[in-house]
Amino acid sequence: MCRHLAWLGAPRTLAALTLDPPFGLLRQSWAPRRMRYGTVNADGFGVGWYAPGLRPQPARYRRAVPMWTDASYASFAGAVSSGCVLAAVRSATVGMPVEETATAPFTHDTLLMSHNGRVHAAAARDELRARPGAPEPESRCDSAAVAALLWERASRLPLPTAVADVVRTLGGLTEPDGTPARLNLLVTDGTQIVATTWRDTLSYRETPAGVLVTSEPDDDESGWVDVPDQHLLVADTRKVTLSSLIS
Ligand code: GLN
Repeated sequence: MCRHLAWLGAPRTLAALTLDPPFGLLRQSWAPRRMRYGTVNADGFGVGWYAPGLRPQPARYRRAVPMWTDASYASFAGAVSSGCVLAAVRSATVGMPVEETATAPFTHDTLLMSHNGRVHAAAARDELRARPGAPEPESRCDSAAVAALLWERASRLPLPTAVADVVRTLGGLTEPDGTPARLNLLVTDGTQIVATTWRDTLSYRETPAGVLVTSEPDDDESGWVDVPDQHLLVADTRKVTLSSLIS
Protein backbone atom coordinates (compact mmCIF):
# COMPACT_ATOMS: atom_id res chain seq x y z
CA MET A 1 0.00 0.00 0.00
CA CYS A 2 1.14 3.43 -0.72
CA ARG A 3 0.73 6.49 1.45
CA HIS A 4 -0.57 9.80 0.22
CA LEU A 5 -1.57 13.31 1.30
CA ALA A 6 -3.35 16.39 0.02
CA TRP A 7 -3.28 19.92 1.37
CA LEU A 8 -5.72 22.73 0.64
CA GLY A 9 -5.33 26.10 2.33
CA ALA A 10 -2.73 28.78 2.85
CA PRO A 11 0.41 28.25 0.76
CA ARG A 12 2.83 25.72 2.30
CA THR A 13 6.18 24.62 0.97
CA LEU A 14 6.51 21.10 -0.41
CA ALA A 15 9.12 20.49 2.29
CA ALA A 16 6.76 21.58 5.08
CA LEU A 17 4.16 19.14 3.79
CA THR A 18 6.27 16.11 2.83
CA LEU A 19 9.75 16.27 4.41
CA ASP A 20 9.53 18.13 7.71
CA PRO A 21 6.68 16.50 9.69
CA PRO A 22 8.02 13.92 12.14
CA PHE A 23 5.87 11.16 10.66
CA GLY A 24 5.35 12.73 7.22
CA LEU A 25 5.72 11.14 3.79
CA LEU A 26 9.52 11.09 3.96
CA ARG A 27 9.40 9.09 7.17
CA GLN A 28 6.46 7.02 5.86
CA SER A 29 8.59 5.99 2.88
CA TRP A 30 10.68 3.83 5.24
CA ALA A 31 8.66 3.60 8.46
CA PRO A 32 4.91 4.09 7.98
CA ARG A 33 2.90 3.65 11.17
CA ARG A 34 -0.50 2.55 9.90
CA MET A 35 0.20 0.73 6.65
CA ARG A 36 -1.93 -2.40 6.47
CA TYR A 37 -0.24 -4.09 3.51
CA GLY A 38 3.51 -3.88 2.89
CA THR A 39 6.30 -2.43 4.98
CA VAL A 40 8.11 0.36 3.11
CA ASN A 41 7.20 2.78 0.32
CA ALA A 42 10.44 2.81 -1.63
CA ASP A 43 9.30 2.23 -5.23
CA GLY A 44 8.88 5.87 -6.11
CA PHE A 45 7.26 9.12 -5.07
CA GLY A 46 5.57 12.10 -6.60
CA VAL A 47 4.26 15.56 -5.82
CA GLY A 48 1.77 17.71 -7.72
CA TRP A 49 0.94 21.33 -6.96
CA TYR A 50 -0.97 24.27 -8.39
CA ALA A 51 0.36 27.68 -9.33
CA PRO A 52 -2.78 29.83 -9.66
CA GLY A 53 -2.21 32.84 -11.85
CA LEU A 54 0.33 31.00 -13.98
CA ARG A 55 -1.84 28.19 -15.37
CA PRO A 56 -4.77 26.02 -14.28
CA GLN A 57 -2.95 22.73 -14.79
CA PRO A 58 -0.80 21.54 -11.89
CA ALA A 59 2.95 21.03 -11.94
CA ARG A 60 3.97 17.44 -11.23
CA TYR A 61 7.31 15.93 -10.19
CA ARG A 62 7.67 12.17 -9.84
CA ARG A 63 10.48 9.66 -9.68
CA ALA A 64 10.73 5.86 -9.55
CA VAL A 65 13.23 6.02 -6.66
CA PRO A 66 12.76 6.26 -2.88
CA MET A 67 12.01 9.77 -1.68
CA TRP A 68 14.98 9.72 0.67
CA THR A 69 17.43 9.24 -2.21
CA ASP A 70 16.42 12.31 -4.21
CA ALA A 71 18.64 15.18 -3.09
CA SER A 72 17.35 17.35 -5.94
CA TYR A 73 13.80 17.13 -4.58
CA ALA A 74 15.07 18.03 -1.12
CA SER A 75 16.88 21.03 -2.58
CA PHE A 76 13.84 22.63 -4.20
CA ALA A 77 11.05 21.41 -1.91
CA GLY A 78 11.70 24.19 0.57
CA ALA A 79 11.58 26.82 -2.17
CA VAL A 80 8.25 25.87 -3.80
CA SER A 81 4.98 26.66 -2.08
CA SER A 82 1.36 26.17 -3.03
CA GLY A 83 -2.12 26.33 -1.55
CA CYS A 84 -3.00 22.94 -3.05
CA VAL A 85 -0.60 20.01 -3.06
CA LEU A 86 -1.05 16.25 -3.57
CA ALA A 87 1.85 13.88 -2.85
CA ALA A 88 2.42 10.13 -2.59
CA VAL A 89 5.08 7.52 -1.81
CA ARG A 90 4.74 4.15 -3.50
CA SER A 91 5.01 0.50 -2.56
CA ALA A 92 4.46 -1.24 -5.90
CA THR A 93 1.90 -4.02 -5.86
CA VAL A 94 3.40 -7.41 -6.77
CA GLY A 95 3.47 -7.75 -10.55
CA MET A 96 3.18 -4.02 -11.21
CA PRO A 97 5.99 -2.21 -13.01
CA VAL A 98 8.34 0.08 -11.11
CA GLU A 99 8.56 3.06 -13.45
CA GLU A 100 7.83 6.74 -13.40
CA THR A 101 4.60 6.34 -15.39
CA ALA A 102 3.24 3.98 -12.71
CA THR A 103 3.90 6.51 -9.96
CA ALA A 104 1.32 8.89 -8.48
CA PRO A 105 0.23 11.55 -8.79
CA PHE A 106 -1.37 10.88 -12.14
CA THR A 107 -2.55 14.02 -13.86
CA HIS A 108 -4.97 15.04 -16.60
CA ASP A 109 -5.87 18.63 -17.43
CA THR A 110 -6.52 20.26 -14.02
CA LEU A 111 -6.72 17.02 -12.01
CA LEU A 112 -4.30 15.09 -9.81
CA MET A 113 -4.96 11.57 -8.50
CA SER A 114 -3.28 9.04 -6.26
CA HIS A 115 -4.38 5.46 -5.58
CA ASN A 116 -3.55 3.63 -2.37
CA GLY A 117 -4.56 0.02 -2.92
CA ARG A 118 -4.86 -2.56 -5.67
CA VAL A 119 -7.43 -3.67 -8.19
CA HIS A 120 -7.68 -6.31 -10.92
CA ALA A 121 -5.83 -4.35 -13.63
CA ALA A 122 -7.18 -6.30 -16.60
CA ALA A 123 -10.75 -5.92 -15.35
CA ALA A 124 -10.20 -2.19 -14.90
CA ARG A 125 -8.89 -1.98 -18.48
CA ASP A 126 -11.97 -3.91 -19.69
CA GLU A 127 -14.10 -1.31 -17.99
CA LEU A 128 -12.14 1.40 -19.81
CA ARG A 129 -12.60 -0.27 -23.19
CA ALA A 130 -16.34 -0.16 -22.64
CA ARG A 131 -16.05 3.64 -22.73
CA PRO A 132 -15.02 4.76 -26.21
CA GLY A 133 -13.02 7.97 -26.00
CA ALA A 134 -11.56 7.19 -22.58
CA PRO A 135 -7.87 8.07 -22.38
CA GLU A 136 -5.26 5.30 -22.62
CA PRO A 137 -3.63 4.37 -19.28
CA GLU A 138 -0.03 5.58 -19.29
CA SER A 139 1.29 2.38 -17.63
CA ARG A 140 0.05 -1.19 -17.22
CA CYS A 141 -0.01 -0.49 -13.47
CA ASP A 142 -3.50 -0.95 -12.01
CA SER A 143 -3.49 2.63 -10.68
CA ALA A 144 -2.95 4.03 -14.20
CA ALA A 145 -6.13 2.26 -15.37
CA VAL A 146 -8.00 3.64 -12.36
CA ALA A 147 -6.74 7.12 -13.26
CA ALA A 148 -7.88 6.79 -16.88
CA LEU A 149 -11.33 5.69 -15.69
CA LEU A 150 -11.48 8.73 -13.45
CA TRP A 151 -10.48 11.11 -16.28
CA GLU A 152 -13.33 9.72 -18.35
CA ARG A 153 -15.89 10.07 -15.53
CA ALA A 154 -14.63 13.53 -14.48
CA SER A 155 -15.06 14.88 -18.02
CA ARG A 156 -18.83 14.57 -17.64
CA LEU A 157 -19.61 14.43 -13.90
CA PRO A 158 -18.93 16.64 -10.85
CA LEU A 159 -15.64 15.51 -9.29
CA PRO A 160 -17.07 13.90 -6.10
CA THR A 161 -19.63 11.97 -8.20
CA ALA A 162 -16.93 10.85 -10.62
CA VAL A 163 -14.65 9.60 -7.83
CA ALA A 164 -17.47 7.76 -6.04
CA ASP A 165 -18.58 6.22 -9.32
CA VAL A 166 -15.11 4.83 -10.05
CA VAL A 167 -14.90 3.25 -6.60
CA ARG A 168 -18.40 1.80 -6.80
CA THR A 169 -17.68 0.42 -10.29
CA LEU A 170 -14.40 -1.27 -9.35
CA GLY A 171 -14.91 -1.83 -5.63
CA GLY A 172 -16.57 -5.24 -5.96
CA LEU A 173 -13.83 -6.73 -8.15
CA THR A 174 -11.59 -9.47 -6.86
CA GLU A 175 -8.29 -10.56 -8.36
CA PRO A 176 -7.79 -14.14 -9.62
CA ASP A 177 -6.25 -15.09 -6.25
CA GLY A 178 -9.31 -13.77 -4.42
CA THR A 179 -7.80 -10.46 -3.24
CA PRO A 180 -10.63 -7.90 -3.00
CA ALA A 181 -10.19 -4.47 -4.57
CA ARG A 182 -8.67 -1.80 -2.34
CA LEU A 183 -9.42 1.70 -3.53
CA ASN A 184 -8.32 4.56 -1.33
CA LEU A 185 -8.30 7.37 -3.89
CA LEU A 186 -7.11 10.93 -3.35
CA VAL A 187 -8.04 13.49 -5.98
CA THR A 188 -7.94 17.26 -6.37
CA ASP A 189 -8.72 19.88 -9.00
CA GLY A 190 -6.95 22.64 -7.07
CA THR A 191 -10.12 23.88 -5.36
CA GLN A 192 -11.33 20.79 -3.50
CA ILE A 193 -10.00 17.50 -2.19
CA VAL A 194 -12.00 14.33 -2.83
CA ALA A 195 -10.89 11.11 -1.14
CA THR A 196 -12.23 7.62 -0.55
CA THR A 197 -11.65 4.92 2.02
CA TRP A 198 -12.04 1.43 0.60
CA ARG A 199 -10.12 -1.02 2.80
CA ASP A 200 -7.25 1.20 4.00
CA THR A 201 -6.59 4.05 6.41
CA LEU A 202 -7.24 7.79 5.98
CA SER A 203 -7.20 10.72 8.39
CA TYR A 204 -7.67 14.46 8.14
CA ARG A 205 -7.03 17.55 10.22
CA GLU A 206 -8.61 20.96 9.85
CA THR A 207 -6.82 24.05 11.11
CA PRO A 208 -7.48 27.76 10.50
CA ALA A 209 -4.81 27.56 7.76
CA GLY A 210 -6.40 24.72 5.82
CA VAL A 211 -7.13 21.01 5.65
CA LEU A 212 -4.67 18.12 5.40
CA VAL A 213 -5.98 14.74 4.23
CA THR A 214 -3.51 11.90 4.62
CA SER A 215 -3.21 8.10 4.82
CA GLU A 216 -1.94 8.45 8.38
CA PRO A 217 -1.31 11.33 10.82
CA ASP A 218 2.04 13.00 10.20
CA ASP A 219 2.51 14.02 13.84
CA ASP A 220 1.19 13.18 17.30
CA GLU A 221 -0.54 16.52 17.85
CA SER A 222 -4.29 16.75 18.46
CA GLY A 223 -7.02 17.36 15.92
CA TRP A 224 -6.73 14.31 13.68
CA VAL A 225 -9.96 12.61 12.62
CA ASP A 226 -9.92 9.04 11.28
CA VAL A 227 -12.23 8.48 8.31
CA PRO A 228 -14.37 5.31 8.57
CA ASP A 229 -14.00 2.69 5.85
CA GLN A 230 -16.04 2.89 2.65
CA HIS A 231 -16.58 6.64 2.87
CA LEU A 232 -16.25 9.59 0.53
CA LEU A 233 -14.55 12.71 1.87
CA VAL A 234 -15.04 16.07 0.16
CA ALA A 235 -13.09 19.03 1.50
CA ASP A 236 -12.85 22.63 0.43
CA THR A 237 -11.39 25.53 2.39
CA ARG A 238 -14.63 25.94 4.35
CA LYS A 239 -15.63 22.43 5.39
CA VAL A 240 -15.05 18.70 5.26
CA THR A 241 -17.99 16.41 4.45
CA LEU A 242 -18.06 12.63 4.89
CA SER A 243 -20.66 10.35 3.36
CA SER A 244 -21.01 6.58 3.08
CA LEU A 245 -20.15 5.00 -0.27
CA ILE A 246 -22.35 1.98 0.31
CA SER A 247 -25.69 3.36 1.48
N1 GLN B 1 -1.39 -0.83 -6.88
C1 GLN B 1 -0.69 0.42 -6.90
C2 GLN B 1 0.73 0.26 -7.38
O1 GLN B 1 1.18 -0.77 -7.70
C3 GLN B 1 -0.71 1.09 -5.54
C4 GLN B 1 0.11 0.33 -4.57
C5 GLN B 1 -0.08 0.68 -3.16
O2 GLN B 1 -1.05 1.30 -2.71
N2 GLN B 1 0.84 0.19 -2.42
O3 GLN B 1 1.42 1.21 -7.45
